[in-house]
Amino acid sequence: MGFQISKEQQMIQQMAREFARKELAEKAADRDKNHEYPADSLKKMGELGLLGMLVSETYGGEDMGTVAYSLALSEIAYACASTAVIMSVHNSICCGSLERFGTEEQKETFLRPMAAGEIIGAFALTEPEAGSDPQSMACTAEKDGNHYLINGTKRFITSGKNGGVTILLARTAPTGSKGITAFLITPDLPGFEVGRVEDKMGQCASDTVDLNFTNCRVPASRMLGKEGEGFLVAMSGLDAGRIGIASLALGIGTAALDEAKKYARKREQFGKPISEFQGIRWMLADMAMDVEAARLLVLNAAATKERGENCTAQASMAKCYASEMAQRVTGQGIQIHGGYGYTKEYPVERFYRDARITTIYEGTNQVQRIVIANDLMKDQKKKRKNKTAA
Ligand SMILES: Cc1cc2nc3c(=O)[nH]c(=O)nc-3n(C[C@H](O)[C@H](O)[C@H](O)COP(=O)(O)OP(=O)(O)OC[C@H]3O[C@@H](n4cnc5c(N)ncnc54)[C@H](O)[C@@H]3O)c2cc1C
Repeated sequence: MGFQISKEQQMIQQMAREFARKELAEKAADRDKNHEYPADSLKKMGELGLLGMLVSETYGGEDMGTVAYSLALSEIAYACASTAVIMSVHNSICCGSLERFGTEEQKETFLRPMAAGEIIGAFALTEPEAGSDPQSMACTAEKDGNHYLINGTKRFITSGKNGGVTILLARTAPTGSKGITAFLITPDLPGFEVGRVEDKMGQCASDTVDLNFTNCRVPASRMLGKEGEGFLVAMSGLDAGRIGIASLALGIGTAALDEAKKYARKREQFGKPISEFQGIRWMLADMAMDVEAARLLVLNAAATKERGENCTAQASMAKCYASEMAQRVTGQGIQIHGGYGYTKEYPVERFYRDARITTIYEGTNQVQRIVIANDLMKDQKKKRKNKTAA
């Protein structure tokens, strides 16, 4: 199986590459160090169409398809993983959920400005006691006339502080997946506040925060989808979200490989460039194989999604493999840089820290393996059902 990237997809990739290397690459280290949100770069990304890549033209988006989106996101991550995670949550999950489940009014109010990059989206599922098992969430939304009263805390929310709209998942019934409902939250709502800001290992230019709700009054018109459809809203964005994180990890891995190649050619020991030592060449060869394997899995998942086929297992495989590749390859990148790789003088140190979270968010890699194994075993389940029915 081979992949033919179309001329148009190549042009989009090239546009994202030029933007990322000119606009983001130089600023990435400082932004990471100062925990500085990339607001001005995001504005430019909006103007280039990079924040409405999957939104239909009806709502001002570019409708470029998942493959082009994946290629562009990898380019952004190559230069700045913090900006890439903001882009991923915004495009894959927030814009996607709004387009699928939003009312016309919600799409005009939120999706259109999101596609233009005027509003950045956040997605609030995780809670202090509910991570891999989101159904155990405790945040509640209680009906109060034409409003809902929200109470609870959401944790680890990307763009929760700097974003303009958050898709919140809360319980409208005490148990079950059908007891969860999605709401669109804006910072102006009474009873809503941004809580603690995480001091993270990597991706430090992207904010990760608690969102606190204390009798927060949300108009019923802000419900996204129907009451009880929140889990469906959350799950429907997962495949795209995982392809997004896989593409992001691929971008980091590719950057680490390129930096390692560059350094190996330049650094001399024993009177010659270290790139001439077999130990280094084999490490570079292993890194290149790993990056290429991840690239094929990511493109396969993106192309499967773009064809409209079920891509749940492919998205999990891509996310799982690409994120673990990024950890291996950034570690090898540091090794090739020797002691310098452990310092902030070279970007591989940041790549290593940025890569670490990719095996955790958007479903940990243990969860991805559960998804992949469930897909492998689904025939067995069907057979058992048929037998019981007979
Ligand atoms: C930087 C960052 C950004 C994030 N952004 C967002 C965001 O925008 N929105 C959002 O809602 N969340 C976000 N998250 C939360 C993230 O998705 C969760 O951290 C993740 O899903 C894991 O949940 P947890 O941290 O509670 O770990 P836990 O679920 O407590 O897991 C702890 C460990 O147990 C393992 N484990 C759990 N269940 C099983 C099982 N059944 N089988 C095997 N192993 C298992 C996990 O794999 C993990 O190794 C973000 C987190 C971080 C750190």
